Amino acid sequence: MHCPDCGHEHTHVIDTEPHESDLSVRRRRECQRCSFRFTTYERPMWDALQVKKRDGSIEPFSREKLRGGIERAVEKRPVDESAVSEIVDATEAELQERNTQIVASELIGDLVSERLRAVDGVAYIRFVSVYKAFSEPEEFRRELDAVLDAELDDHGGPETNTS
Ligand SMILES: [Zn+2]
Repeated sequence: MHCPDCGHEHTHVIDTEPHESDLSVRRRRECQRCSFRFTTYERPMWDALQVKKRDGSIEPFSREKLRGGIERAVEKRPVDESAVSEIVDATEAELQERNTQIVASELIGDLVSERLRAVDGVAYIRFVSVYKAFSEPEEFRRELDAVLDAELDDHGGPETNTS
């Protein structure tokens, strides 16, 4: 690390302070020639977006995995391949816009379910029941009621499936 004042190439670290939450490290440095003091911040950079899972572990973001989760939710539902691709693309784009290296898996779940809900109510329920890991039937019913209410609002009556 060159001295920002005189350009000397040897500076030494006089204090190191790891940041508690964001993995960055703050270092106080001093130039060995002119004694100029300055601070540097170091933070790890990943090559790709990382996902922090509920158990705290971190793994690289995977489009395939995201697509797989959505495909399981839309199985045997009238949702075509291109709609699934659209959700994957839109979700990935939105994550990248956030300009962060680590996103919580819950956030991805929220982004996907929001879109899935607009496409197919049943697929939405399946999806959230997996990613929110419902443990109580009551939680499941609450989501289901919300979807059914929305459909009544949209169509003015209960939907009948004739296929
Ligand atoms: Zn210097």
